Amino acid sequence: MAYVITKLCLDCMDIACTQVCPVDCIYQYQGDDSSIPKNQLLIDPDECIDCNACVPECPWGAIFEEEMVPDVFKEDTEINARVVGKLRFVPTRPDNQKMPTPEEIKANKKKWGYEE
Ligand code: SF4
Ligand code: SF4
Repeated sequence: MAYVITKLCLDCMDIACTQVCPVDCIYQYQGDDSSIPKNQLLIDPDECIDCNACVPECPWGAIFEEEMVPDVFKEDTEINARVVGKLRFVPTRPDNQKMPTPEEIKANKKKWGYEE
C-alpha cells in the first residue's frame, strides 16, 4: 500500500509535500510519456513508507491513503505508479510560493467533482 496524489494537485503544485517526506518518494516526472502528468506530483508506491507526513502539509487536500482515495480519483492510484523507474526528480518548494485561499481550494475540488 502507499499514499496517492490525486488530480487535486494538477496545476497547483505548491510543493509543500516534498519538504516533509522522509524518504524523498514524491516526484515530478521528466520524461516524454504523455500518459504520465508533469503538472502534478506523483508518489512512488514502492518507496512510500505510509508515514502520513505529507497529508497535512498539502493545502489542496490532494493526498490520500490508497484505501481512502475518493471514487472520482480512483485512476490516480495507477497513474502515480507509472512514475516507478522513470526519469524524475524531487522538486523543491520555491521561496515565494503563496498559499491558496479557502475559496481557491473549494473551487479546485468542485472542478474535479469532488465533494467531501
Ligand atoms: S506517506 Fe510518507 S513516505 Fe509516503 S509520500 Fe507521504 S510523506 Fe512520503
Ligand atoms: S503539497 Fe499537495 S498540491 Fe502541493 S505539490 Fe504536494 S500534492 Fe501537489
